Formats: sequence, C-alpha cells, structure tokens
Amino acid sequence: MAGSMEGLREDNARLRARAAAQDSRISDLEDDAERLALLATFANLANARLRAALGAVEWTSDSTMIEMSVMTCPWCLQHQADGHAPDCQRQAALGLAEVE
Ligand SMILES: [Zn+2]
Repeated sequence: MAGSMEGLREDNARLRARAAAQDSRISDLEDDAERLALLATFANLANARLRAALGAVEWTSDSTMIEMSVMTCPWCLQHQADGHAPDCQRQAALGLAEVE
C-alpha cells in the first residue's frame, strides 16, 4: 500500500512536470505568434511607405509654368494622359509592393 502511494506521488509529480513543460511550450508559441504579428505589421507599414513614396513621384514636370507643364513618368517617360508604358519600371515596382 505504501509502495502504491509512493508510485501515485511519483506519477502525480511527473504529470505536473509535463503540464508545466506544456505550459512553457504554449507560452513560447504565443510569444512567437506575437513576434510574427509584429513583424507582419512592420512589413505592412514598410510596404505602405514604399507605395506612398512611389505614388509621390509618379508624374513629374520639368516646366515651372504649371499651365504649360506636361506631366510625365520619370521612368517610362510616357505622358500622364497616355498612362504608363507596359514595361514601366515604376509600375513593376508597385506591382511587387502590392499586398495580396
Ligand atoms: Zn511609367
């Protein structure tokens, strides 16, 4: 009887140790998930900043007279009214920055 009580105590201690180890693993996974969510947030912010920077320089003009100015893309040199060339590097970069 004393032997079986001793065995039960050992089983109990083993189970508690396993539960503590599982808790620790769950806590580590939760930390990893938080880190990944944070990284995803930073990546999305960097992506938004890149898209905003590309948007700010989409069309430029070399004229100081606004009414005479013709807006062109600095990469493909197309006029704004015609839109970008199919192989415009800016548009290609913007395509890479799109969030899916
Ligand atoms: Zn262009």
